[in-house]
Amino acid sequence: MDLKEIDLKYVLHSYGREYINFKYGKGARLYDENGREYIDFTSGIGVVSVGHGNPRLADAICDQAKKIIHISNLFLIEPQALLAKRLVELSGYDMRLFFANSGAEANEGAIKIARKYGEVDGEVKRYKIITLKHSFHGRTITALKATGQEAMHTYFGPFPDGFVYAESIEQIPELIDGKTVAVMIELIQGEGGVEPQDKEAVQRLSRELKKRDVLLIVDEVQTGIYRTGELLASNLYEIEPDIITLAKGLGGGVPIGAIMTGLKDIFKPGDHGSTFGGNYLSTRAALEVVDILEEYKDSGKLDERMLYFERELKKIAQEFDIFTKDVGLGFMRGLRVSQSDRVGDIVKSALRKGVLVLKAGRGTVRFLPPITITKEEIDEGFDRFKEALKEI
Ligand SMILES: *Cc1c(COP(=O)(O)O)cnc(C)c1O
Repeated sequence: MDLKEIDLKYVLHSYGREYINFKYGKGARLYDENGREYIDFTSGIGVVSVGHGNPRLADAICDQAKKIIHISNLFLIEPQALLAKRLVELSGYDMRLFFANSGAEANEGAIKIARKYGEVDGEVKRYKIITLKHSFHGRTITALKATGQEAMHTYFGPFPDGFVYAESIEQIPELIDGKTVAVMIELIQGEGGVEPQDKEAVQRLSRELKKRDVLLIVDEVQTGIYRTGELLASNLYEIEPDIITLAKGLGGGVPIGAIMTGLKDIFKPGDHGSTFGGNYLSTRAALEVVDILEEYKDSGKLDERMLYFERELKKIAQEFDIFTKDVGLGFMRGLRVSQSDRVGDIVKSALRKGVLVLKAGRGTVRFLPPITITKEEIDEGFDRFKEALKEI
């Protein structure tokens, strides 16, 4: 059996998979078993933030693996404490953290925090959470229910109650009632089509929620960790949410999720937990990732490369009629396709030409390059992408 046959025979078919056997990578470049090179404009769906084969990250992981990978949260974990301190200091928010293993799990924890906040004397007073249409919050039963896409609620019921979907940021206040405890939003909807929210509308919402004692949860699983040029998109939008969730880019590929919250005493020992969450390996990796990216930002290169990427993407949006507009912010970018059923063809054609791009909702070709991508890698990727478009 070849590898494809093994995969098809033994792994559940939950993904529409491309059968390319990647062997190694360097920066934004990937190499398959035949030595063919690809430019990775996806960074493993926003995960490989410091690029493939990053030597600093690899050294940190190796060093930690030789010492301690895991003990448990019943003991002090040095890199966990240091990572929490670093994220709080860099964010500028007066918060504490809880560490999980994925975005969905971080969102589950955020929802638990909100529900606990809605309890008074052990009684559930408020439990409803308002989320947005076209949102994406993860794949656990609760995170799926929080996701404002009907297509995602086809199977797996019954789902937990208490989620309400708003058409837009502006509509949220009208949906608040006496049972509403929180609002959960992405500042830029990723899976939903790389759709940024309007900054002033978000700031207005944030002020209104504070007045009405409704928590604001910002799902920064995709937007966080310098994806938009700042540590957090919440920094860029100049708001102070009650709860922020992180995952994707935080560990540079090592699974880690996190919840940041200003409700610093919401949990008592025993209220929430995770066996793996925040272990030595993942938090040491994340510390290194944050160091690398913070230095990168300070050097001015991050802004420079983001602007360059945007400029080149806008040229493509103008040059090719198939696109109606470019969308997104920082290194979270998309091109809207006039016929949304062509997005799949574009992604496949790009792959044939040696560049990885993603699909997203609202008929969008999505770009989530490594945050440390170089100018040469950007040029090479767009050259290939243009070649691919000529064949559409
Ligand atoms: C990817 C994503 C999630 C889910 O993260 P997992 O690690 O796959 O559980 C949740 N929210 C947003 C905004 C995401 O982009």
